[in-house]
Amino acid sequence: MPDRFAERLLDWFDKHGRHDLPWHENQNAYRVWVSEIMLQQTQVATVIPYFNAFMDRFPNVQTLAEAPVDEVLSHWSGLGYYARARNLQKAAKTVVEDFGGEFPDDPEQLETLTGIGRSTAAAIVAQAFGKRAAILDGNVKRVLARYHAVPGWPGQTAVLKQLWHHAEEHTPDARARDYTQAIMDLGAMVCTRSRPKCDACPLQSGCTAHAEGEETRYPGSKPKKAKPEKTTWMVILEDSDGRILLERRPPSGIWGGLWSLPELDPALGADELQESCERQLGLNCGDPELISGFRHTFSHYHLHIQPARLLVHDARQVADGDHRSWFHRDEALTLGLPAPIRSLLTQPEQTALL
Ligand code: SF4
Repeated sequence: MPDRFAERLLDWFDKHGRHDLPWHENQNAYRVWVSEIMLQQTQVATVIPYFNAFMDRFPNVQTLAEAPVDEVLSHWSGLGYYARARNLQKAAKTVVEDFGGEFPDDPEQLETLTGIGRSTAAAIVAQAFGKRAAILDGNVKRVLARYHAVPGWPGQTAVLKQLWHHAEEHTPDARARDYTQAIMDLGAMVCTRSRPKCDACPLQSGCTAHAEGEETRYPGSKPKKAKPEKTTWMVILEDSDGRILLERRPPSGIWGGLWSLPELDPALGADELQESCERQLGLNCGDPELISGFRHTFSHYHLHIQPARLLVHDARQVADGDHRSWFHRDEALTLGLPAPIRSLLTQPEQTALL
């Protein structure tokens, strides 16, 4: 039984697909390969001028293999992910040295070249040699995940395996070159990430995600990694003039160069704060008042901040300096302060007595 998936897709491609991309002209393995690598994480419209300039300077695999690496990188400048350009040249040298300057038409051999994975190898085989080979780039993953309602994130092995299975089952024996371009085009032009144009889609009648009205649920997103949780004591040390002790943080790292409150070992109990202030800061303090704690989220961890206020009996023991200084509250608020420290200093009403 013919696969209606491929048939519908090819009919659509004949009328609406992209037939005039620069790598379609004088199509060969070298041009397909360079375009495929450039298109990884980059849109077609961005790639076109880079591809044309690259081909002007490096028209074949030999010129690329022999070029100074800095020149290859400068032609890549603006496309990002520079490892791709370095890998490209490394693979070009292998093609020249080990394959006599000719790309193999076997996907397994292509996959031995640096930077060429299973899908890129298949794209080269299908587009340059017209041989049947299933591809599964980001666009194709999206189309297939939606069409078959495959749950989960494609970065997971089990999900990827299912998608490869569907990619293989739909790839036709005939018109390998067109089918490869057709499914990439459908993903880029119709089955788009945020607002798929299902009304214009040739696959709509068989698409499970569309039938469920859940198109954007597929493919699943990368699971978010739980951020580690850390805790700290922050002490508001106030002298008899109402001044507060602040410390300047080191220039790099979290809150680099900003003024913040002194921190104490999170393992301490509230009844050990007084003694710790004396030992660590040389300050003779009264009993601590605990202030409502809160959580602040950084890019890579959550910090539970437990503030405490202590009245300092003798502030002379800590001299003003670049690193640690006493400030009246109004003066402190003119400094560069991290947002949670600023709100801590401006909302003393949150105070709760120990
Ligand atoms: S019907 Fe919609 S969700 Fe399904 S493949 Fe087409 S564009 Fe994508």
